[in-house]
Amino acid sequence: METKQINNEKIIENEIDWKQHIRDVHNDMADDIEYLFPNNSTEAFMTAIWKMSVDLLERIEVMVIVDNKDDLYISSGTPSLVSFKDHEDELKIGDKMKLPLKCCIHTHPSGKAYFSDTDWNTINTWKSDIESCIVLGKNEYLAYNPKSKLAKMVHYGLLENNLRGEQ
Ligand SMILES: [Zn+2]
Repeated sequence: METKQINNEKIIENEIDWKQHIRDVHNDMADDIEYLFPNNSTEAFMTAIWKMSVDLLERIEVMVIVDNKDDLYISSGTPSLVSFKDHEDELKIGDKMKLPLKCCIHTHPSGKAYFSDTDWNTINTWKSDIESCIVLGKNEYLAYNPKSKLAKMVHYGLLENNLRGEQ
């Protein structure tokens, strides 16, 4: 119980910082970022999101929505996508979210980039309003366009370790 409380406090304490960091990285390269399908700038943006999710928040799922006017809506620790439980203030920053969303990115701190059953439910609900869904794992991501059903699974990062796969 006590541990949980401490964790929550920590998250709230860090909240402004980590969300601001994601926004800063996005602002730096918003013009270059492509969501269908990711380029180097997108990958840098995704790396920032991954680092916040895994290093700073210590493995809490992070979701970043990029709406049609390139505004970000960020939440964490929500069991389902496109949920802003405990992050309702995100929906009140600036202008109203504009559809269709350019992208919905979320992390899987366990490391594997795939769409869970919950993810598929969300994708199916939102498919006409989301142009790109990206799930982010450790050095890998899966990007998906619900309209065309085209997907791209990518491994990326520094080639410093053995990337030949499991032996
Ligand atoms: Zn997921």
